[in-house]
Amino acid sequence: MTTPYKVLIIGAGPIGLACALECNKKNWNYVVLEKETLTNSLFNYPKNMSFFSTSEKLEIDEIPFISNNPKPNRDEALEYYRRVATSNRLKINLYEEVNAINKEGDHFTVISNKTEYVAENVIIASGFYDIPKLLEVPGEESSKVTHYYNEAHPYAMQQVVVVGASNSAVDAALEIWRKGGHVTMVIRGSEIGDRVKYWVKPDIINRIGEGSIKAYYNSEIVEITENDITITTPDGEISFANDFVVALTGYRPNFKFLEDSGINLSADTARLPQYDAQTMETNISGLYLAGVICGGMETHKWFIENSRIHAKLITEHIATLDIKKE
Ligand SMILES: Cc1cc2nc3c(=O)[nH]c(=O)nc-3n(C[C@H](O)[C@H](O)[C@H](O)COP(=O)(O)OP(=O)(O)OC[C@H]3O[C@@H](n4cnc5c(N)ncnc54)[C@H](O)[C@@H]3O)c2cc1C
Repeated sequence: MTTPYKVLIIGAGPIGLACALECNKKNWNYVVLEKETLTNSLFNYPKNMSFFSTSEKLEIDEIPFISNNPKPNRDEALEYYRRVATSNRLKINLYEEVNAINKEGDHFTVISNKTEYVAENVIIASGFYDIPKLLEVPGEESSKVTHYYNEAHPYAMQQVVVVGASNSAVDAALEIWRKGGHVTMVIRGSEIGDRVKYWVKPDIINRIGEGSIKAYYNSEIVEITENDITITTPDGEISFANDFVVALTGYRPNFKFLEDSGINLSADTARLPQYDAQTMETNISGLYLAGVICGGMETHKWFIENSRIHAKLITEHIATLDIKKE
């Protein structure tokens, strides 16, 4: 049998990288497997986004993150995490997707789309940005519908429906309107989300108030067709002309992957994965969770700021177990 990896990390997001830095410091034999590009979720964030955190709160292993403004933008974050990965020579295999994790005795067999690995410990840091929460309405599969907003230019002079009332939806609605798009927000609740950034909220409320951006509250999409959209509102069903739908209704972790790996999920709608908050170890010994994946459907609960600590908790636990074994 080939020498097993001490630690195999799934996902090269900020938290997977934080785990890799800890393994590097301990001189452990480890590898990170990332299914797409480095920090793939951040790469897919809107081009002009700014983080709500200041740059030092996004630092991993206290490596300084210097940005032009207190709150960095996407490009600065990509630059930072890229430099962290390259200058620390982190061992990362990009474009390699993990499809299964099987525990066999004391070891895990990890099966990727390229090969198989043996590891003593596995850290799942796979985030939740790959699977959008779908609207589940006819027409959602059409090319005019997207669940990822990138930039406003393609929407200039177009009739655009933005679905949702969270930070992402609000940022997209404002930016598209400012670049000449005709924006209608379709909002399931009765108001703009209460977690919307405090410095952005007055902007959207005022734009809606003055009629620059139209908003239908307590409303949901019924059907999307080539040229129109139909929604239910408190005043009944209405249809209007529509060119694009930007549905920013959130994302969810890959629960099937967690369950297939043997991790218990809570039976309620939160579907919280089982793990020990002190060590991040799941109900399977040697299998750990790190980063935003820990929140189940409560995807707002964990972010970079408050989950970068997971890397140290996990590696200290593994090191403590090693001492006990000696
Ligand atoms: C618009 C926006 C703004 C944000 N602003 C902030 C902020 O200001 N401050 C803050 O703290 N947080 C912020 N967040 C949240 C933050 O970006 C996420 O919390 C962060 O990306 C989580 O890091 P992670 O490493 O846990 O997961 P991710 O960054 O999602 O990384 C997971 C990685 O795992 C990979 N992966 C998934 N499945 C597999 C597989 N089977 N095999 C191999 N690889 C796999 C993915 O491709 C991805 O690269 C923001 C989020 C958004 C959407």
